[in-house]
Parts: sequence; C-alpha cells; structure tokens
Amino acid sequence: MSCSQTVNIARILYPVRALGPGNRLGIWLAGCPRRCPGCSNPELWQAQAGQALSQERLQELLRPFLSREDLGGVVVTGGDPFFQADALLPLLAYLDRSVPDILVYTGYTYQQLLHLGKSARACLQHIGVLIDGPYRQEENDGHPLKGSANQQIYFLRPELRPRYEAYLEGPSHPVQNFTMKHGIISVGIHRRDFADAVAQQAKKKGIILHDRP
Ligand code: SF4
Repeated sequence: MSCSQTVNIARILYPVRALGPGNRLGIWLAGCPRRCPGCSNPELWQAQAGQALSQERLQELLRPFLSREDLGGVVVTGGDPFFQADALLPLLAYLDRSVPDILVYTGYTYQQLLHLGKSARACLQHIGVLIDGPYRQEENDGHPLKGSANQQIYFLRPELRPRYEAYLEGPSHPVQNFTMKHGIISVGIHRRDFADAVAQQAKKKGIILHDRP
C-alpha cells in the first residue's frame, strides 16, 4: 500500500456528534461527480475544493484526535470519499489501527463499490458502517443518519449494530454548527429545505450565501 498517495481533504472537525454515536472525528474528502439536487455540500463537488495532503501529513494532523480518551469514532464523508478510492485506502487503514468504529458515507451503492476496483473493495475491509447511495431530496424523510430513504446502512462489522441502534432510538439529533475561519459549517443530516431556509433567512438580513456552485 502506497503511503505517498496524496488525499484531497476539505475539512477535519472534532467533536462531531450529529453523525453517529459518540464524539467523532469528522473527515471530509473533496470531490464528487454526482451533483445530487439538494446536496448539502455542493461546495465540495470540485476535487480542488480541498487541500492535497500527503498521507504522512494527514496522519500527523489526525494523530492528536485519535489519542483522545473521549473519541467515540470517526466519520468519513465529503464529497464522496470513494471518488478518491486509491487515497482513501491508506487513510482508512491508518484509522482502523486506532478506532474500531469508522462510519463512511458514499454516493455509490454497495454493489457499485464491489465493482469499482481493487482499492474500493479493499476499503470495505476497514469500514465499520457504510451508508450508501446518492441523495434523493424527494426521499428525505428526516432519518437521523440517512439523507434519503433509498440509502442503506450496512453494518460491515456487525458488533457495531447495537451501538448505532441505541443512537437511532435516542433523543433528537440536531445539526451542529462549527465556526470556521471563512464562515459557519452546519454538520448533520439536514431536512429537505434546510439550505433554502438558511439562504432566505440570511437574505432577509442582507447576507448573500456563496456556497452553491
Ligand atoms: S453523492 Fe453526496 S456529496 Fe455527492 S452530490 Fe450526492 S449528496 Fe452531494
């Protein structure tokens, strides 16, 4: 496995509590060719939306989070992480050495991943829970972890299932807002009209949002 493979990272956030149980290290990979209408991260469609990091540099950035006692898991999303399957593989292998609970979102279906290539198939060996399939806004039914009803949750490590079931049955799962250098990032599964509602509220206050391509 090559460690020289660079990976395009859009953001790293901690603690993410709106995407799975526990305090999670959230890693967003840039680039997604799918362009689902209503996508909550259209600013990450372009591969250049992220910063190209060597695996070594990325590991250096992640290491302090992985040694935290309060770390409850990792969530890898984007963009579509499998858009960079060759680079995703060494990243997941590294995470897998420290964290038993790795949740990954992808716009590919699980069946498509099986035929996407060797790296994509190998990635599955390091994933605890996979949520697959494109976002269909007309099927957004307010599920706490799935963007739309067509998506499936695969417990690739079955021992994680009870933990997620407890999370899904727990109290409400609000979105989380992180203040960044260039603005606010809203993390979590948003209701169908969330982006338009925020844009309308902002416009009323004279603010024009620029995150939509
Ligand atoms: S697959 Fe995900 S990141 Fe890609 S366009 Fe669809 S919702 Fe957005």
